[in-house]
Amino acid sequence: GAERTKNVLILMSDTGGGHRASAEAIRDAFRIEFGDEYQIFVKDVWKEYTGWPLNDMERSYKFMVKHVQLWKVAFHSTSPRWIHSVYLAAIAAFYAKEVEAGLMEYKPDIIISVHPLMQHIPLWVLKWQGLQKKVVFVTVITDLNTCHPTWFHPSVNRCYCPSEAVAKRALLDGIEESQVRVYGLPIRPSFARAVLQKDQLREELEMDPNLPAVLLMGGGEGMGPVKKTAKALAESLFDKNNEKPIGQLIIICGRNKALASSLEALEWKIPVKLRGFEKQMEKWMGACDCIITKAGPGTIAEALIRGLPIILNDYIPGQEKGNVPYVVDNGAGVFTRSPKETAKIVAEWFSTKPEQLHTMSRNARKLAQPEAVFDIVRDIHDLTCQRGPLANIPYMLNSSFTDLI
Ligand code: UDP
Repeated sequence: GAERTKNVLILMSDTGGGHRASAEAIRDAFRIEFGDEYQIFVKDVWKEYTGWPLNDMERSYKFMVKHVQLWKVAFHSTSPRWIHSVYLAAIAAFYAKEVEAGLMEYKPDIIISVHPLMQHIPLWVLKWQGLQKKVVFVTVITDLNTCHPTWFHPSVNRCYCPSEAVAKRALLDGIEESQVRVYGLPIRPSFARAVLQKDQLREELEMDPNLPAVLLMGGGEGMGPVKKTAKALAESLFDKNNEKPIGQLIIICGRNKALASSLEALEWKIPVKLRGFEKQMEKWMGACDCIITKAGPGTIAEALIRGLPIILNDYIPGQEKGNVPYVVDNGAGVFTRSPKETAKIVAEWFSTKPEQLHTMSRNARKLAQPEAVFDIVRDIHDLTCQRGPLANIPYMLNSSFTDLI
């Protein structure tokens, strides 16, 4: 008979901008590659179907990363497997019924997790439902290097690692080589496949056509020393002798409204564009010559695709720490927490050391993996085909799981 449309459920959570961006990247790539063959749902199952603390992850996460020490403790104290297993088991027992209902509602043929805390519970639900052999479950890791061990679950069909470093960790943590694939971090197809011309972008974005441009941001939430860095750049990019700017500055504050309004109050000696949450990051990146950001994996991977040298000025302890050597050791950027130092480096790149900027730009492009998201969805498609023609999966709310606890 005719192939029926297969359901794909992507599990994400809005902790930071990165997980949602990866989830949407995968969704878009499915559509481009396979059209109507798949129906995609991007869901924060925790938020929709559970109570505290799961439905509150977004807020707890924001709170914790603002209070960095607390996050450090949370990240490292939950690293040993037995601790998070016990913790997650307790939560699973408590919310099993709701999560189960959430999963069942979408009748997924394929479940894709892009979140470190969305392996255990959904896999348990599948197991108790007797669906483990029928539903394809894969994890797409969105940290470039030092990722939390809750990402690794031995029962997945595939564990997509963005880098060799993460793959190594996966193998050490008991994932089989046959489960691991390394294609890169999934980036929105609009980024990867965009054909963009810097001159045209600058015109469209109403930027100065000639001055070199630096992009300053701090992930989806506008974190890190953005304001201090902006002020320092306004000084270093102004040539006092000639009373002329030697560069222009684009500041993208993301969802950080307080940051945006405090920057709006300032006066600038150089051309500055101040923006909130931008939907077309590929254009802003394509129009600039280098980027300053905290070490978010999404922003880094995108900047590499655009060939932007990166100044990393901050990282979230734990999962983002390893992103720093990933960039620096590969010659695609530098790390400094000092706004003054950052401003000095950019001024040098734009005046006396352009060749350094070019070299780093070349290295960035070498690291870039714009095809990663397409490789991932094609592999998931192949996995699904290997299961043979999909019978209708017998989704029913039998109470086996909840009866057991
Ligand atoms: N981003 C965006 N618009 C903005 C700010 C950020 O689309 O105004 C995107 C950015 O392009 C990247 C993601 O949000 O894809 C941020 O992810 P990252 O991993 O860098 O940091 P996070 O915010 O998750 O900590």
